[in-house]
Amino acid sequence: MLDQFDRKIDYLRISLTDRCSLRCVYCMPEEGVEWLSHEAILSYEEIARLARLFAALGVRKLRLTGGEPLVRRGVAGLVARLKAIPGIETVGLTTNGLALREQLPALLDAGLDRVNLSLDTLDRAQYAAITRRDALPQALAGLEAALAAPGLTVKVNCVPMGANDAQLPALAALARDRDVSVRFIELMPIGLGKDLPRRTEAEVLAILEPALGKCVPAPPPPGAGPGRYVTFPGFRGRVGFISAVSHSFCDRCNRVRLSSTGFLKTCLQYETGVDLKALLDRGAEDAALLAAIEAAIRQKPRQHHFSAPSAAGDESRSMFQIGG
Ligand code: SAM
Ligand code: SF4
Repeated sequence: MLDQFDRKIDYLRISLTDRCSLRCVYCMPEEGVEWLSHEAILSYEEIARLARLFAALGVRKLRLTGGEPLVRRGVAGLVARLKAIPGIETVGLTTNGLALREQLPALLDAGLDRVNLSLDTLDRAQYAAITRRDALPQALAGLEAALAAPGLTVKVNCVPMGANDAQLPALAALARDRDVSVRFIELMPIGLGKDLPRRTEAEVLAILEPALGKCVPAPPPPGAGPGRYVTFPGFRGRVGFISAVSHSFCDRCNRVRLSSTGFLKTCLQYETGVDLKALLDRGAEDAALLAAIEAAIRQKPRQHHFSAPSAAGDESRSMFQIGG
């Protein structure tokens, strides 16, 4: 469907949980998080019902995220249900990869189309410092399993934050011999990300080009959202830049988010949206849910204001709570 600014909304990101096996410094505090109770989050039954309604309104792409989606039991079963919904063309997963090697066979059987794996460094000690867990070998095992899966579109997401500058060329070089897109995601001033240094696209390129050669523009990979893609001499895969702050792409935004608590969030930076779980809990019929979803999507804000000071109505939670 179209929103009030004629943007076509065909992409829904669904957060399955606020829990996670890592504690990335820009996303989740080491301690003191109050986890949501089981009753507070949408059941798979409810997620599938809502996804059917979103599909009826024109959503074609789904992506499961979190927190870490693979810490919730039975994700493969949910993928199979979502893939069976008429109109849904692709189902993707955004994961830290720790449980991917173990769960990938079932996920592939269920029809998973795409995996985005988050990896900010290839240095084990630095990975432990950034994620507060010594888990690089598991993440890399997950990545290699995904890359070996025929037909699966794989992207690596890296947040450049200054501390990992020296690692950026090695991360980009994952795309040298592999058909993978390595994307540098600009740190957004959300939650803990507000207090950390941010590297812009230009700064990352200034680190990459001396090491990898001059880049040239490349076509985006399948399912790519807004972003700029390039390739380097001798590379099989691509390198992408998702720069929500320095190169805002709100005019092309095609997505909305469903939090694990059932809140339909129409822009990352604002608290605007609608509490669909409250409606489900009150026994709402499909027609009422559809009307609520449609009204919320129509009101999707025109743009974020990441570069301006924060204001009333701004999102105060972190990415693991919103569903990044
Ligand atoms: N746990 C999964 C993972 O890490 O891929 C899925 C959820 S995580 C919140 C999704 C993505 O959001 C990750 O790639 C992470 O690096 C990114 N992220 C978290 N906080 C961010 C921030 N403030 N700015 C930009 N990206 C952020
Ligand atoms: Fe967990 Fe992903 Fe947040 Fe890292 S970015 S703490 S892996 S939810």
